[in-house]
Amino acid sequence: MDTQTTTIDELKSGFSGDVLVPGDPAYDEARQVWNAMIDRRPTLIARCESTEDVMAAVRFASDKGLPVSIRGGGHNVAGHAVCDTGVMVDLSKMRSVRVDPDKRIAYADGGATWADMDAATQVFGLATPGGLISETGVAGLTLSGGFGYLRGQHGLSIDNLLAADVVTADGRLTRASATENPDLLWALKGGGGNFGIVVRFEFALHPVGPEVFFVAPIYAMEDGPGPIRAWRDYISQHDEALAMICEFSTVPEDDEFPQQYWGKKVFALVAVVTGDLDAAEELARPLRELGPLVTDFSGRMPYAEVQRLFDAQTPFATMRCYWKALYLADLPDEMIDLAMANAKAAPSPNTISSLWNMGHGVRAVAAEATAFGDRSMGWMYSADGVWADAADDAANIAWARASWLKAEPFGHEGRAYLNFPGHGEDDTLTRAAFGDGYDRLARIKAQYDPHNMFRFNQNITPAG
Ligand SMILES: Cc1cc2nc3c(=O)[nH]c(=O)nc-3n(C[C@H](O)[C@H](O)[C@H](O)COP(=O)(O)OP(=O)(O)OC[C@H]3O[C@@H](n4cnc5c(N)ncnc54)[C@H](O)[C@@H]3O)c2cc1C
Repeated sequence: MDTQTTTIDELKSGFSGDVLVPGDPAYDEARQVWNAMIDRRPTLIARCESTEDVMAAVRFASDKGLPVSIRGGGHNVAGHAVCDTGVMVDLSKMRSVRVDPDKRIAYADGGATWADMDAATQVFGLATPGGLISETGVAGLTLSGGFGYLRGQHGLSIDNLLAADVVTADGRLTRASATENPDLLWALKGGGGNFGIVVRFEFALHPVGPEVFFVAPIYAMEDGPGPIRAWRDYISQHDEALAMICEFSTVPEDDEFPQQYWGKKVFALVAVVTGDLDAAEELARPLRELGPLVTDFSGRMPYAEVQRLFDAQTPFATMRCYWKALYLADLPDEMIDLAMANAKAAPSPNTISSLWNMGHGVRAVAAEATAFGDRSMGWMYSADGVWADAADDAANIAWARASWLKAEPFGHEGRAYLNFPGHGEDDTLTRAAFGDGYDRLARIKAQYDPHNMFRFNQNITPAG
């Protein structure tokens, strides 16, 4: 067969999944991603069911000179999973997770979600650090870092990545591990989807739960910043067990909240504490006594249930979104005041914003150990615009960007978390995020993807 003339019919023959083109009944549903603002039309969608499908789709794209976007869980806020004019390689049907409880390793397909991961690992009372929402993809979240509840003890998701099987731009399957192509494994630990399509991840597992102590006292913003200041001071002394998020939001009209607070701005101090649950409850107690409470959702519950708690607030392909984060050197009172003022000014009641401490496990990893780079920042701030109507796009994007810009004076070396990238318009952030590691990443990119086939991401330009 002349590879230059591979037709769609030839791709379809021997393909286990679906090959979709504009006009096919399933095409429009398949190109949807989590952010309802994203409306792109790939030339072809390869909905893969096997590694062979992924290899065939990449070879097809290569023959045609088309770029490739990669869909894992479809949750990237910039919508990087879907492209205009290019091949969308969709892994949403490749979601199996296998666990070896003796070796404490999970083997996850490239399209698995954190719900798939937790369901498989919690059977054995094991887990690896994921994110805060179970429907996000293991792939996208991991490849740019991965911040979740377990980071205090076990670091970022990438810090637990042992190996990966990757389909590179030449359509071949390559292994990345400590002994095989270790440079590629290093690059996958923070370098995003730049180097190929990961069809299988291997993660180290740790004993977690199944029952954990969930911490979630909620305070009213009208009562002032006192609880956040006390929270900052307390968790800074306990950041192995307490890797937390202070989340600002608006109380919904929901009977779970006292009616007097409906529509008011609040913040929740959220953590998952593992291990001995009496000790966990005692450790969390001061955080639940920092002032008058709106309510308190703290309690013992299964880890997998905690992971799903906020899923309903973030339904797929429903809300319009623009999220933008930066790292903070520290968390002075002035930054807390700014975060509160920004939250009060949010134009949409669906918007959230948040302060995250790094946690011991994140800071313990050396800068050069992963492509993610330096870990010396103390905190992260994220302004996450979420709204319903297209007519409100400009106001909500302007709010997120203004909140982010106002926080810049408190920033850490101009670095940002690349998984909360706005809509990907600030190119210079990618270089800044990688710091000294950028040139090494560019060389590895040139080795595995010299023509930048995988360019719908926080893109690294191939060296040379
Ligand atoms: C509701 C919500 C909650 C979130 N919570 C957290 C959180 O708690 N912690 C956190 O750290 N982040 C969080 N994020 C951010 C999240 O990590 C990113 O949006 C991430 O890109 C999602 O991964 P995905 O696989 O679902 O995305 P997708 O949109 O499918 O993919 C995003 C990009 O990842 C790459 N990619 C995806 N799959 C593969 C693959 N198999 N091989 C190679 N590259 C691939 C590609 O470059 C792709 O363009 C959240 C996002 C949302 C929308």
